[in-house]
Amino acid sequence: MKEIHSDTPGFQKIKGALGGNRLVLVSNRGPYTHEKSRRGIICERTVGGLVSALDPVMQSCGGVWVAWGSGNADFVVTDSQNRVRVPCEDTRYTLKRIRLSEREISRYYYGFSNRVLWPIFHLFPEKVCLKTEYWNSYQKVNEKFAKGVLEETKPNDLIWVQDYHLSLVPRLVRDENKDAKIAFFWHIPWPHWDTFSNLPWREEILNGLLSSDIIGFHTESYVKNFLECVKKGLDIPVDNGIINLPDRQIRVKAVPIGVDCEQFTQLSRSVILRAARLHRRLHTKYIILGVDRLDYTKGIMNKLMAFERFLEKYPEFHEKVVLVQTATPTRTKVEEYREMKKEIDETVGRINGRFQRIGWVPIRYFYRTISQDRLLTYYKAADVALITPLIDGMNLVAKEYIATKDNGGVLILSEFAGAAEELNEAILVNPHDTDAVADAIKNALEMSSEEKKQRFDVLKEKTREHDVYWWLERFFTEWRKTYEKSV
Ligand code: UDP
Repeated sequence: MKEIHSDTPGFQKIKGALGGNRLVLVSNRGPYTHEKSRRGIICERTVGGLVSALDPVMQSCGGVWVAWGSGNADFVVTDSQNRVRVPCEDTRYTLKRIRLSEREISRYYYGFSNRVLWPIFHLFPEKVCLKTEYWNSYQKVNEKFAKGVLEETKPNDLIWVQDYHLSLVPRLVRDENKDAKIAFFWHIPWPHWDTFSNLPWREEILNGLLSSDIIGFHTESYVKNFLECVKKGLDIPVDNGIINLPDRQIRVKAVPIGVDCEQFTQLSRSVILRAARLHRRLHTKYIILGVDRLDYTKGIMNKLMAFERFLEKYPEFHEKVVLVQTATPTRTKVEEYREMKKEIDETVGRINGRFQRIGWVPIRYFYRTISQDRLLTYYKAADVALITPLIDGMNLVAKEYIATKDNGGVLILSEFAGAAEELNEAILVNPHDTDAVADAIKNALEMSSEEKKQRFDVLKEKTREHDVYWWLERFFTEWRKTYEKSV
């Protein structure tokens, strides 16, 4: 998708909220990778919500982005300080790359981040694998990131650390620079104390985060859970979203991330014909769409079972409905993810084998990463988006679907997605309740145009109002208040 990276009113507001300070952004994955190919080194933008949200800001405001260099030519193109200017054709900001060894990738990333923090924070205790060597590596890698940040930071820079891979970075930076201005955004759910307290390194994680001046979450319930963990885990007083340490205060805020609604709406006009063609090619009256990373939290299996139940219960929809389901490859080196892929492949095959007829295949399944341009066509063509994660920090696909449609698409959304706190005019479902999801599909397809419009208009308004610019401006404004108060 084309980026807006100039002096649009949205960015003017964001620049205003930054108060002229430079941003030092820190995240596990970087916004660009360099890969060797037969045509030479290719620079590519990485796929994902965080990069879509933050790369345009960095392009507009400048600054430094510190991230793991995971591409196989990432360090071929960097200078002696591991820095490269990006985007590649029209450089606007600096990307500082952190080099990780194979062992660190295995222990810090696949180990502690993905086999300890991810399952604990997504309430899958049976998938947690606690190993001290994972924790040791997590600490080491967080130290590497903190060192990289300290090398790049100038006085008055705003250091913004992203997500669960880097929870120790605020403390490690603060230890070296007590005046640093640090914010943290936690993008995944924060569980209740009863779950969080199982983590052997719970105090270290909390203390790491509490060196920030402000900590952001996507929903009020994650904020509430986090504050409860601070109270119970560290015995620190908390008052109305403020954590009171002897020497300073930390603000904890729910600021839900949004999407560039205006851009999705505008660009969607250019795919009207392609969307109509997709309908014709699938020989179907209705398209139901699912777009998920192939992760156990996304509930793809539950969704397939619910769709099968729908086909069983409501045969009048045979040959009239197609479920287009994409699964983005992720963590492909982990055995468990490979097994999940196999199970999903087989289930799709089984359901199609059971119901399909000449000229009608009920599930069209793609195991690949789809470009956002292509996704736009799918969003535009889909009569219903079926988004049923078992748990999800936010879920941007739900917002992108609404942003793209302009003619009353229906959103079926899991009540366990962070987005459900805002988008409660969707048909909310419990993804574990196979029959209820099957019925929700029927209701969505049979909904009167009046009801569809009523629900859709509110969803669209919310998505437009709380877009990505609102998210950034709101968060930066809250962050600035922190310093204004302490002056
Ligand atoms: N996405 C994409 N291609 C795909 C699948 C997803 O570009 O094949 C993008 C999608 O447009 C969205 C992000 O990846 O911006 C997924 O964000 P979400 O919050 O829904 O899920 P996550 O994968 O971050 O858990």
